[in-house]
Amino acid sequence: MNYDIIVVGGGPAGMTAAIYAGRAGWKTLLIDPMGGGGQPSMADMIYNYPGFPNGIGGPELMDLMARQAKAFGVKIEYEEVIRITQEAQDSGASGEAGLKVSTGDAEYTARAVVYAAGTLPRKLGVSGEEKYLAKGISFCATCDGALFRDKVVAVVGGGDSALSEAVFLTQFAKEVLLIHRRDEYRAGAANVKLVDQNPKIKQLKSTVVESVRGDEVLTGISVRDLRTGEVRDLEVQGLFLYVGWMPNVEPVRHLVETDEYGYVLTNEDMSTKTPGLFVAGDVRRKPLRQITTAVGDGAVAVWSAEKYLLERG
Ligand code: NAP
Repeated sequence: MNYDIIVVGGGPAGMTAAIYAGRAGWKTLLIDPMGGGGQPSMADMIYNYPGFPNGIGGPELMDLMARQAKAFGVKIEYEEVIRITQEAQDSGASGEAGLKVSTGDAEYTARAVVYAAGTLPRKLGVSGEEKYLAKGISFCATCDGALFRDKVVAVVGGGDSALSEAVFLTQFAKEVLLIHRRDEYRAGAANVKLVDQNPKIKQLKSTVVESVRGDEVLTGISVRDLRTGEVRDLEVQGLFLYVGWMPNVEPVRHLVETDEYGYVLTNEDMSTKTPGLFVAGDVRRKPLRQITTAVGDGAVAVWSAEKYLLERG
């Protein structure tokens, strides 16, 4: 199927690009993985996106963006994008070579692509982790928190995600163990204060998870105190990992330049070394990864894509 513009990724960058492209009348497809909505859809509440003085639920915000895109005629498919390639075959009005977007089930072509596939959650790399993914280990408190009512859960990480989600989990869990590898949190003062004030959160600083155990489902973790070297076994039914993110770059790695961490290097207008491929949002190298900056990226990327298409007639 042929489109003018395909947007890959349904987070704030991709949704913004799709809204602008649809509104401008381009035949636009947005491809988002199953369960979509990008990183904000995993956040219980968002308090720093302008326009919502009392905050807004992450899934609700992303649902509003998807509805806005659909209202402008954007088609949305929920599939995993495996690879994007340059097409030898012409697909543009002026014979410009297009791009082919392959998912597990289908292939789509477009004259321009906005790649905004964001980041993927990082794992710990400890023994037992792979076995208990989705069997007690989760990357999304908003999605899975309610499964742990009156249970003990652990949250790993010291950034804003770990601290805010630890607070969120206290709605359900009997106790939340917040495990951070250093003595100081990376998170901002507001979240640190909320954690300090919450009696259900037990803070284990300078502590790392060494292994994960269980039977059919997770039943516990081993942790090491880095100050004393002491190793302890803790009984937990849930383990929420918030140890950062990795760029979701594989589908376009061969078409772009990346930095040493794998983030895509773009020009100021979000263009890349591949004609017609524009990259926006958290997957690109940038100083601040927030919903606000993703929205800005999406608008710039699709503006550049439109310019690219118009120049080629
Ligand atoms: P992050 O800021 O990158 O924090 C990742 C945390 O995981 C760090 O504390 C890091 O420890 C720890 N970590 C990394 N690898 C680890 C490992 N192998 N083992 C144990 N711990 C490990 O990620 P984030 O918290 O997801 O935040 C991402 C961005 O979104 C940030 O800019 C953040 O401010 C923003 N955000 C904001 C809010 C908000 O409420 N305003 C909420 C969520 C996210 P070190 O500190 O030692 O490096």
